[in-house]
Amino acid sequence: MSDRDLAPLHSLRDLAAELADGATTPAALLEQSRAALDACAGLNALITRLPAPAAPGASGGHPLWGVPYAHKDLFCTAGVRTTAGSKMLADFVPPYSAHIHERLDAAGAVLVGKANMDEFAMGSSSEHSAFGPVANPHDPSRVAGGSSGGSAALVAARAVRFATASDTGGSIRQPAAFCGVTGIKPTWGRVSRYGMIAYASSLDQAGVIATSAVDCAIALQCIAGHDRRDSTSQALAVPDWLDQLDRFDLQGLRIGLPTPMYGEGIDVEVLEAVAEARRVLEQAGAKVVDVDLPNAGWAIAAYYVIAPCEASSNLARYDGVRFGHRAEGVRNLEELYTRSRTEGFGAEVQRRILIGSFALSAGYYDAYYLKAQRVRRLIAEDFARAFEHCDLLLSPTTPTPAFRIGEKLDDPLAMYAADVNTVAVNLAGLPAMSLPCGYVGRLPVGLQLIGKSWDEGLLLAAAHAYQRRTAWHRVLPESLR
Ligand code: GLN
Repeated sequence: MSDRDLAPLHSLRDLAAELADGATTPAALLEQSRAALDACAGLNALITRLPAPAAPGASGGHPLWGVPYAHKDLFCTAGVRTTAGSKMLADFVPPYSAHIHERLDAAGAVLVGKANMDEFAMGSSSEHSAFGPVANPHDPSRVAGGSSGGSAALVAARAVRFATASDTGGSIRQPAAFCGVTGIKPTWGRVSRYGMIAYASSLDQAGVIATSAVDCAIALQCIAGHDRRDSTSQALAVPDWLDQLDRFDLQGLRIGLPTPMYGEGIDVEVLEAVAEARRVLEQAGAKVVDVDLPNAGWAIAAYYVIAPCEASSNLARYDGVRFGHRAEGVRNLEELYTRSRTEGFGAEVQRRILIGSFALSAGYYDAYYLKAQRVRRLIAEDFARAFEHCDLLLSPTTPTPAFRIGEKLDDPLAMYAADVNTVAVNLAGLPAMSLPCGYVGRLPVGLQLIGKSWDEGLLLAAAHAYQRRTAWHRVLPESLR
């Protein structure tokens, strides 16, 4: 890797300073974004591109003022089509905006488009989109990861400075890992879900993807905090994360390595990259301990019962009556429901609705849903015990780098297994990040950091400390060198 293959060190803080002293303008940034969006159009990372993004109002001095960004197409934007990657919502123009959109809008950030994603955020590759798969900027024959693949690909292609995303079982961290960018899934309840199209509400969490921990901190700071319209959003003060990150020192930090996350099925090259990252942190003074998560092996099984159960309930609202796709020429109400849903939902979404409806049906509830909820509790307790011995956990984000487009499409269980290291975090509601820590050939490898609830500050600070010592987050896709 030579210097010419690296993006310059240039955070949103630097950009804000340049905007403030007139060295650049929102119009110039928008023009750069427009050109980069044209150049990466072949990735299919956007579902809707705004023809004429609105210029920001007068600068209120917010660090995101004038900064181009994209939303995962799961966040409602008043007047701008919001599809959730589904034919069901292909023509849906929401009458209101998501909380996080209101926040970003008020800050003066400039929305350039709505990013492609797996339909209703169900998937690990961004191939389950009614608008076609997203390609990986590092190797377009590979997937971008999912479900926030469009968001991660746009950031990796340097077409936007940051993008919003959501994580129900890994959908921020997994595409961030595959695309070589940095993503944070905050604690469940840290960011309001108002106006975010629901998949599995007890797991869904909004967050951001950017090129560095500093930029994630700035973007997350803008969207985090209490909102009375989401009864699960916490009324906790949001700390000044940038300040925490600047003051942080790795000396004495206790990092736990959860042994089950280094187990069977994890590629050797991935393990090597993560081991190297661990050494970097150790050399800077961190202490490493092994910790166990005895029930982590059940996480996939529990998750793929709970998430479909909640999905089957959340998606019942798409009945062809009030909004969403409506089948034509139906003869009765029954047919209206069945045909609208059969035509509107893709195969993976239908599979999840069937699994969820089955698991929740009388006679099976105790065997599946209740059992899965008990496992969920045990997993949360495992994390709590692990955190008695360490301040954060470190693991590979995904078992492999990005796989080929089409490779796992016919094998849902292989696709689900790509989430082996991410879903337990959602079951426990914890905050976690993924950041690039190496390459296998052209393909990025992601490092996962998991924190205690409400401890996003430590995660961001540790990630920043790592990125100050390494350049993996600055590696550009070959097409940009
Ligand atoms: N791959 C997981 C699923 O399909 C997680 C998706 C997500 O986090 N939205 O459910």
